[in-house]
Amino acid sequence: MNTIPVDHYNEVKTTIGPDVSLLVVSKTRSEEEIMAYYALGQRCFGENHAQEILAKKDLPADIEWHFIGHLQRNKVRSIAPYVSMVESLDNLPLAKVIEKECARIGKVMPCLAEFHLAVQDENKTGLAEEDAFAFIDEIMKLPHIHLEGIMAMGPHTEDEEEIRRIFLQGKELFDRIREKYGDQIRILSMGMSDDYRIAVECGSTQVRIGSYLFY
Ligand SMILES: *Cc1c(COP(=O)(O)O)cnc(C)c1O
Repeated sequence: MNTIPVDHYNEVKTTIGPDVSLLVVSKTRSEEEIMAYYALGQRCFGENHAQEILAKKDLPADIEWHFIGHLQRNKVRSIAPYVSMVESLDNLPLAKVIEKECARIGKVMPCLAEFHLAVQDENKTGLAEEDAFAFIDEIMKLPHIHLEGIMAMGPHTEDEEEIRRIFLQGKELFDRIREKYGDQIRILSMGMSDDYRIAVECGSTQVRIGSYLFY
């Protein structure tokens, strides 16, 4: 039996095309499954727990680990050396800890600001749209953080029109931020297993896909 559904991987790659990048969300998945994707040439993987990144840190060094979950400030020191991007930056105290730890180890951390666009979903993390510019102005002052774009999740609904409305809101916010801060802002991370096709139609430049790519 195959370790991973290669047909799904090929389907996703074909659907998103060459201009959209694929983050394989490998949280809770085994080293064997990750290495099966590695053998296909996949190098970018997403994780949402500090402990799990540390447990997987001895996998090949050219793997890029993207942190996509809620990041506690007291976990930053342990993972900072191993993480290629923090996609879930949504508060200034966290940014200041990342700044301090990365200054200590001589690293500039690529980050995405995470936004909470679907107002009807309770208890979700992420910045409010109206706070975007005040937040990013502060982030831009931190020399060991390099803000490269934004991340957002679609709403928990099967209503395609509602999903599209939220993703278009994300695209519009991305365009406004890019207009103000320039080409440094290049990544719009939107779309997961159930909604990535819509996200790409709405202008996403990176999809984060987990369950569809594993058994
Ligand atoms: C788990 C997770 C994903 C992947 O979700 P799937 O529905 O399994 O594709 C994407 N983004 C974030 C932030 C996640 O936590």
